Amino acid sequence: MNEPVNKSAGRKSISVSLKPRELMTEHPRLNGVWTAQIITLFPKAFPGVLGESLTGRALAEGKWCLETIDLRPYGIGKHKNVDDTPAGGGAGMVLRADVVGPAIDAALASAPVGRPLVYLSPRGRRFDQKMAQSWADGNGVILLCGRFEGVDQRVLDHYNIQEVSLGDFVLTGGEIAAQAMIDAAVRLRPDVLGNAASTVDESHSNGLLEHPQYTRPAEWKGREIPEILSSGHHANVEKWRLEQSRKLTQDRRPDLWDAYQNKQDD
Ligand code: SAH
Repeated sequence: MNEPVNKSAGRKSISVSLKPRELMTEHPRLNGVWTAQIITLFPKAFPGVLGESLTGRALAEGKWCLETIDLRPYGIGKHKNVDDTPAGGGAGMVLRADVVGPAIDAALASAPVGRPLVYLSPRGRRFDQKMAQSWADGNGVILLCGRFEGVDQRVLDHYNIQEVSLGDFVLTGGEIAAQAMIDAAVRLRPDVLGNAASTVDESHSNGLLEHPQYTRPAEWKGREIPEILSSGHHANVEKWRLEQSRKLTQDRRPDLWDAYQNKQDD
């Protein structure tokens, strides 16, 4: 591994020096702002898609912060090696404990107490809307992105890191998962979406999948917008939407439908 040390980082992100305390003084704005701290070999991948649209605008406006902690400078020796062959043999490489550990220490040094420390991992608990909401309710999150075969188990044990998965599939690295999860959390922060109400009745918020949406033109390829949506009768529109939501959920996600019904019975 002899890639160049990456010194550039995204607009709002910071390449952490080996003296993490500098973060507090150099970037006082971080204090009190919801912050995603990402430990990664690829800081240039951030903010990525998070720099676009609503999350991007909110980032530019300082409504949340992104901090990348580049693993490379913590690498060992002249070549800053971050990985080594798996103990016991086998394919691939494993991120070293003595590289990942100090990077985590740097992240923790600039994090308020209680910020969740998460390793993105296909073995982890499946990420969902509830977890996104609990992250959004806090002051941020520290995300460790793995690469290769993953991270030395002793790091996960030592820091008691929570493993979280984007889904039952294997990615090449944690960065895409991190962006997906940060997106889901940040959009639940107050002020990030233009219309805050839109997070209340969307899919996975109220236990139902969202009803179909339509917009202009009124007719497209011979298909019309359901008449009720043009009636101007707000109560009927709401009733129709709820019926559609219930039907969609029942058809597509019997698991969600059962949970929804149980909740209604309580
Ligand atoms: N050998 C590992 C997979 C390594 S994939 C295993 O079989 O469990 C390389 C990295 O990609 C992982 O360390 C993790 O950080 C990330 N990754 C892969 N799939 C992921 C998923 N479904 N959710 C979150 N992160 C994932």
